Amino acid sequence: MISPIFGTVARMRVSTGKATQSDGRMFTVVVEGFGVGLQRRAERRLTVPFSQLQRLMQTIALQGGRIRSISAEEVPVGSEPQASGSEAATQAATQAADAPADAPAAPPTPARKAPVSHADVPVNLYKPKDPFIGTVTGNYSLLTEGAIGRVNHITFDLSEGNLHYVEGQSIGIIPDGEDANGKPHKLRLYSIASTRHGDNCEGGTVSLCVRQLQYEKDGSTINGVCSTFLCDIEPGAKVKITGPVGKEMLLPPDEDANVIMLATGTGIAPMRAYLRRMFEPSERAKNPEYQFRGKAWLIMGVPKTPNLLYEDDFQRYLAEYPENFRYTKAISREQQNPSGGRMYIQDRVTEHADEIFSLIENPKTHVYMCGLRGMEPGIDEAMTAAAAAKDLNWSELRPQLKKADRWHVETY
Ligand SMILES: Cc1cc2nc3c(=O)[nH]c(=O)nc-3n(C[C@H](O)[C@H](O)[C@H](O)COP(=O)(O)OP(=O)(O)OC[C@H]3O[C@@H](n4cnc5c(N)ncnc54)[C@H](O)[C@@H]3O)c2cc1C
Repeated sequence: MISPIFGTVARMRVSTGKATQSDGRMFTVVVEGFGVGLQRRAERRLTVPFSQLQRLMQTIALQGGRIRSISAEEVPVGSEPQASGSEAATQAATQAADAPADAPAAPPTPARKAPVSHADVPVNLYKPKDPFIGTVTGNYSLLTEGAIGRVNHITFDLSEGNLHYVEGQSIGIIPDGEDANGKPHKLRLYSIASTRHGDNCEGGTVSLCVRQLQYEKDGSTINGVCSTFLCDIEPGAKVKITGPVGKEMLLPPDEDANVIMLATGTGIAPMRAYLRRMFEPSERAKNPEYQFRGKAWLIMGVPKTPNLLYEDDFQRYLAEYPENFRYTKAISREQQNPSGGRMYIQDRVTEHADEIFSLIENPKTHVYMCGLRGMEPGIDEAMTAAAAAKDLNWSELRPQLKKADRWHVETY
């Protein structure tokens, strides 16, 4: 069942009056950015009978085409409502409708680039040889009593230099000290958890969400070098920072975009920045050009409830923006999946596959995945099954979404 929040999924609807599958009218769809090669640059007119209209719309949406208009005309009684028109009679729609069961139904051609602007995205302002020296202004635990491990929110003052960034980027941290060979430590990347305005909304700071790496080896506990350095760091300490880097996880500037976020653990960092930009009152006041009106759906995986990160903020956004924000949790050690096993994020993707796929059919929808690398195969599996249920082939569709800048993955 479609959730009430997403009950009005922004799909192009066609007013067809009393149209039925036996509707005798032909429909002409004027579309841009659809087809292959030169076709994509031109405006195309595609004429199809009503029975093929819905598939054509889905095909256009999946390939990132833009529908300019749709008009209907009566067909004289007795004449066949066949596909016709100025183009090769809607090959795409026919292909979609007539494809054999084992063929991909909808997306046979590369998708068009979605309008995600990469302009003005700063990269490599500070390099390892000449890093920025930031000062720690805060470091606190994001976990509550009973949580597993250690995850901290750490903020650095950047006001002395020119280090700036946008949501979805990462910075590098070079921990103090030397490695086993007596050489300076190499940098480690961390996703930025704050918006470009910083947590205080005044600019000049950056925040991270860091989990301390710990594992057992030969009977002793090994602590990760940089993550331990960061989790232990005190306010006032100076830290070598590089970057920013990354254009993979940028948020589209479109205020009407739909944003599906799949996060595990510290993979929440970029999502926290997006959600602040979308819903935090001080951020909205700061960004008159970005008053988010789309649907943001966070699907978050953690081992236990006390490991949920930024929970109070997300609950506040839920209360204030129930039409725009949806929040689904997979708490592996407390919830069960339908087979009685632990509830992981991919189980939530499977559970909501139909809605997720309906959203993905909309060219305004972007999907972001961030967290431990191990999350990818499970999500891929869930998406494969969901696509198959819609006669689509996920292994073909995913690269097309990627090419259209609508499928964003940063796992580590
Ligand atoms: C783009 C990007 C964004 C990232 N964002 C974040 C983020 O937001 N938050 C965050 O916490 N981390 C993030 N990371 C991970 C981060 O960069 C570091 O890799 C992490 O903090 C560990 O670094 P460390 O110095 O503590 O560990 P290290 O001292 O470098 O130890 C890591 C090494 O330990 C070994 N190891 C690890 N686990 C085990 C094990 N179970 N058994 C045996 N050996 C093991 C492996 O050889 C591994 O390479 C991100 C990584 C990337 C690439």
